[in-house]
Amino acid sequence: MVRIASACLTPHGDRSLHGPGLLFVISGPSGAGKDTLVDALRDRMPRLRYSVSATTREPRDGEIEGVHYFFLSRHQFEKMKAADGFLEWREYNGQYYGTPRHYVEETLASGFDLVMKPEVNGALAIKECFSDAVLIFLLPDRFSELRERLLARRTETNEEIARRLEIAHTEMHYVRSFDYLIINARDRKDDAINDLSAIVHAERFHIHRYTDDSLRRVEDS
Ligand code: 5GP
Repeated sequence: MVRIASACLTPHGDRSLHGPGLLFVISGPSGAGKDTLVDALRDRMPRLRYSVSATTREPRDGEIEGVHYFFLSRHQFEKMKAADGFLEWREYNGQYYGTPRHYVEETLASGFDLVMKPEVNGALAIKECFSDAVLIFLLPDRFSELRERLLARRTETNEEIARRLEIAHTEMHYVRSFDYLIINARDRKDDAINDLSAIVHAERFHIHRYTDDSLRRVEDS
């Protein structure tokens, strides 16, 4: 009994006690800090897999094919869409973005936890495919901070920034459809990373995450 109990209490331990992997969907408006937070989470939890999205937008300086995105032409994207290759896809700011289906399904079925960071409508579409997915909404402490962050990163024109902020306003209406809300305040990045890690840890211990067999072993011991 002691052996089973201690194995159950090891979040990175015996995967056979658990069912499929957990899916963490980190969303929120452009400029909320999704990229930074997800990078920090993956540094802390190297076993956490990451779903690389596909997009038709141009790579930014330093972005690597297959690491940050799969950069596709519109034609390639549409072909993959027609072949049911995406779990979800969206047109955002005039470009396509989509979650490749195969990697997500394989990874979760193999029992590995997975993180992804689509925009808000994409996150809600993922929840429709995977009702167990954990949806986390990320926001700065002030709306005006979004604009400041987008300006500071110098990757978009002023026009693009204005469009992203317009989209951000509509995205706010969906906050109640999420499971968690994290405030990523200016100069408090570590707090937000700790909050995100705490959610991931807690979800791993949720009673519903254990297989029926493993719980029966605990009950019968
Ligand atoms: P960016 O151009 O700044 O990399 O991304 C623009 C928006 O698209 C961000 O809000 C980002 O989270 C979102 N995005 C990235 N990948 C996907 C995806 O696979 N699906 C959806 N729906 N949105 C995505």
